[in-house]
Amino acid sequence: MNTPRVEVDLGKILHNTQCLVQRLASCGISLTGVTKAVCGNPAIAQAMLKGGAIGLAESRISHVHRLRQAGIACPISMIRTPLMSQLDQVVQACDTSYNTERSVIVGLSAAAVRAKLIHNVILMVEMGDMREGILPQDVAQMALDIANLQGVSLTGIGANFACLRSTAPSTSDMANFLILIDQVESTSELNFDTISGGNSASLPWTKTQTSPTRINNLRVGEAILVGSDPVSGDQINGLYTDAFTLIAEVIETKTKQLQAPESRSILALGYQDTNLLGVALPVDILFAGATSDHTVITTRESLPVGTELRLNMNYSALMRSMAAPDIQTRTYYESIGTIDNSYKEKNHYGKIRATE
Ligand SMILES: *Cc1c(COP(=O)(O)O)cnc(C)c1O
Repeated sequence: MNTPRVEVDLGKILHNTQCLVQRLASCGISLTGVTKAVCGNPAIAQAMLKGGAIGLAESRISHVHRLRQAGIACPISMIRTPLMSQLDQVVQACDTSYNTERSVIVGLSAAAVRAKLIHNVILMVEMGDMREGILPQDVAQMALDIANLQGVSLTGIGANFACLRSTAPSTSDMANFLILIDQVESTSELNFDTISGGNSASLPWTKTQTSPTRINNLRVGEAILVGSDPVSGDQINGLYTDAFTLIAEVIETKTKQLQAPESRSILALGYQDTNLLGVALPVDILFAGATSDHTVITTRESLPVGTELRLNMNYSALMRSMAAPDIQTRTYYESIGTIDNSYKEKNHYGKIRATE
């Protein structure tokens, strides 16, 4: 089989989704599966849907087209504010988009009228992450301005946390978001169906909730795909962290001497393929360095040329490798084994040695 390749155990994606869907249901929260890191891979998307995701979310129209061409008919949301140059495509391929710019929503309205469709709009509010979002004090006016536009239906309000600044939303951040929803609804006399309270980084907050709040949706990618908390990097209890494996092939092995003789191998893998700092190696293998197409490792036992190494990836490495043109993806369902809680002890994320 070709290398490098990514193997995806869909059973683990299914399990992770089911697990999170169940946990969130107890707080009255639905889960939207985010497939952007896997470029809208249809098999992975299907596993999320099978696991109970109520719909999918994407950030690029090309990924949405890939999902639709595979016959996926579920609701798809565009979670990055639509590009002015793609509004017709967004209206045709997505049921909903998250928005922060009035001019874009006006454009969506016109595109929806042309397509004879109703497009759902969710307003994204800036709650401190300082990436996208309407300023809190401007939300009610924006809602009123667009409420009567033809072709669009204002269905919800969303917030995003821990994307640009890596701090998880605190209880008071979430409380402020809920207060804002109340204020916007009373000022505008509008009512919102969907209150989307963030991404994987909002999962810890849900554990502090004993009864449902107005927040009734989260958009989750990372936790499903790699089973870890985006802020701490820790494994989420009960989730698989190894649904994805990167397989790389040894193309040279020689004993070379820098200080002492050591067995050095080259993998046909480089920065063009992935973020090597997010690739975990077995503990007895060390990174010596990497370039665009080569990764040099030192090993205790010398590895024959042609050996395939199976490597774990964090979210950053996963995202890059799934988008790399030379890496194929192989998906499969297998009866899944027990969850490995000790992968961190068995693997380590390599630091490229600064000296080489
Ligand atoms: C990427 C993204 C998500 C999903 O984030 P994860 O950390 O993968 O759960 C949710 N919402 C928005 C707006 C995003 O850009």
